[in-house]
Amino acid sequence: MMASPATILQSVFGYTSFRHNQEAIIDHLLGGKDALVLMPTGGGKSLCYQVPALCLDGVTIVVSPLIALMKDQVDALLLSGVKAAFLNSTQHPSEREAILQQLRKNELKLLYVAPERLVGAEINLLQFLKEQATPALFAIDEAHCISQWGHDFRPEYRILHELKIQFPNIPVIALTATADGLTKKDIVDQLQLKDYRVFENSFNRPNITYYVKPKRNYYDELLDYLETHKDDSGIVYCLSRNATEKLAEDLKADGFNAEAYHAGLDKSTRDQRQDLFLKDDIKIMVATIAFGMGINKSNVRYVIHADLPKNIEGYYQETGRAGRDGLPSEAVLFYGAGDVMKLKNFAQIDNNPEQTKILLDKLDKMVAFCETRQCRRKYLLNYFGEQAPEYCGTCDTCIHKPELSDQTIVAQKIMSAVARVNEKFGLGYIADLLRGSNSEKIRPEHKELKVYGIGKDKPRDEWMHYTRELLSSGYLQMSDSQYPVLQLTEKSKGVLFRGEKVFLHAPIQITTVKEPVIYQQLPYENDLFENLKKLRNKIAHEENVPAYLIFSDSSLIDLATYLPFTTDDLSKISGFGVYKIEKYGEAFLEHVQDYCNEQGLDTRIELKQPKRERKTKQPRERDTDTKKVSLEFYQSGMSITDIAEKRLLSVNTIETHLAFYISSGKLDINNFVPPDKQELIRTALTKYGKSSLRLLKENLPEEIGYGDIKFTIAATEINS
Ligand code: ADP
Ligand code: ZN
Repeated sequence: MMASPATILQSVFGYTSFRHNQEAIIDHLLGGKDALVLMPTGGGKSLCYQVPALCLDGVTIVVSPLIALMKDQVDALLLSGVKAAFLNSTQHPSEREAILQQLRKNELKLLYVAPERLVGAEINLLQFLKEQATPALFAIDEAHCISQWGHDFRPEYRILHELKIQFPNIPVIALTATADGLTKKDIVDQLQLKDYRVFENSFNRPNITYYVKPKRNYYDELLDYLETHKDDSGIVYCLSRNATEKLAEDLKADGFNAEAYHAGLDKSTRDQRQDLFLKDDIKIMVATIAFGMGINKSNVRYVIHADLPKNIEGYYQETGRAGRDGLPSEAVLFYGAGDVMKLKNFAQIDNNPEQTKILLDKLDKMVAFCETRQCRRKYLLNYFGEQAPEYCGTCDTCIHKPELSDQTIVAQKIMSAVARVNEKFGLGYIADLLRGSNSEKIRPEHKELKVYGIGKDKPRDEWMHYTRELLSSGYLQMSDSQYPVLQLTEKSKGVLFRGEKVFLHAPIQITTVKEPVIYQQLPYENDLFENLKKLRNKIAHEENVPAYLIFSDSSLIDLATYLPFTTDDLSKISGFGVYKIEKYGEAFLEHVQDYCNEQGLDTRIELKQPKRERKTKQPRERDTDTKKVSLEFYQSGMSITDIAEKRLLSVNTIETHLAFYISSGKLDINNFVPPDKQELIRTALTKYGKSSLRLLKENLPEEIGYGDIKFTIAATEINS
């Protein structure tokens, strides 16, 4: 019988409800139909095929271009007890053969492959699937790579048009985070999708707050920012390789845990640093845009652009790496005129005026984003062709909407300068002229003008700012010529000659919010949260996987909010599926309980919205010292199963309670595990260590249970 998607979501992934249109997409696929899914980064694309993969009989083939991402996803699935694997060119033939064998036996639920592996030299996987395996679903990740119109065309994706020819009855789901109209059509055509539906989601990332700060005293501002985010992971993007190295060095010298990352480093250094970042051992990655493709890390709390990005597409993609776990995150961009000049130069493509124009236009839009007075989110969404409200409340312009103030004198000074130079010069020139710059760029005859130096009282940036304000409110205009120059308008004449007043916005004094972000309605125990993070890191190190694959920050915050005391409580916490509860549940419960004992707190699990209809239960006794209760029942002669039933806890939990007393010498192992079993387990322990119960279980005879293993491990700890 097929398990329902909701059951899988709960029991395997530990989530309460589907997001966006995940459920509709999954139902559609389970109906045997094709789908094209457009969802922003962090939207939850993976579950759209992982859940059906677990509902269906057979294996789901996931095509992905990024080897790093594949490994990450497979690790995450294995941690949730899902049988998954990937095939790639780095594998030993024997490893590959083992995977094929699993496919033959229909033992794998998900197989990740790069597109070129599908008809690879060593094996024609498509043919193999047809003849020897049971494919259930094809998922095409980063589907825009199939289109020449997309920004990341990969010719090897073209093989995928074979899928529908060879497997006409197997549903295909294509997923991407960016696709315009042309690309969408191309994906459908290339994959030959027939009975398909397009599922589109808003590109809005509501949990990201956008800030643009003037690039003045930038390093100090950056230090201030990082200081208030010391425990968080983040990425700082720079334009050049040198800049990343220099900034990383400076930050290290200032006591921050930062490293540089760029394409000029050798591969092993890159891999190593990426790995350390994923494991939270490097907190700040100072990187060029070479970093981030295929980084699935869910708890990146901020993305900083130390330099201006080249276009909105890049900016959106890079900032999108923040907050994939849905928790509040920040995007901060330091904007300075110098970068605009630099990028303008980069955009000049020799002998290719069309391309140059495209690049310059895109740069203009990026600059306009930085200078806009309207909501930044609205600007981004409109850029991607989406409607948006005027006010979002979570971007700097919405947060700090400045008042209009009377700036008539300022306006007059600027306009006079524009008039005096005969409307033949640009923004920067006017600002320099007003400031009385000694630069040789200022023509000698202009140094004689009355306006020369009348603006010494304000910094250059401010003059630039007010000039732009005048532009955007129609008091000035920009010529269309090759070198844009400032010109007066009808409106300016009213100011210069008829004494009309001008009201402008003052420059924004941006200060990022420093008080801790309120993640949820309910307050959570911050010390406990930090404590749980440490526990998570310890486990991650033992198992050699990134911490966020064990549990996301939002799961830990859920724990620190609702304070679960029992395994049952735990199953109500986001991210705790059956398998993970089995494996890590007790460790986390213990931390929560210790903390609560210390602080005299009771569980708040009742405040958690019930996931589904809650069965009526007998009221649970208030157990602050839950292990002791299990011990007392045990000593009164009850069996483990009876205790579990009586206490409404799982057998696993009771076992863990009793194991504790075995390790402290209060209970005798021989009453729990017969000596011959103990012997087998001890041998396995010397071979595999004790960090992964699953590994031990898999390498021991069927009849040895998790309980046996736990008790024996506990017994070995008496002597140590
Ligand atoms: P994408 O591939 O679209 O960038 P992911 O599939 O990596 O996004 O999902 C982003 C994060 O959201 C992951 O940590 C994932 O576990 C989580 N997530 C996805 N769907 C849900 C859901 N229904 N409930 C809770 N968390 C979810
Ligand atoms: Zn806004």
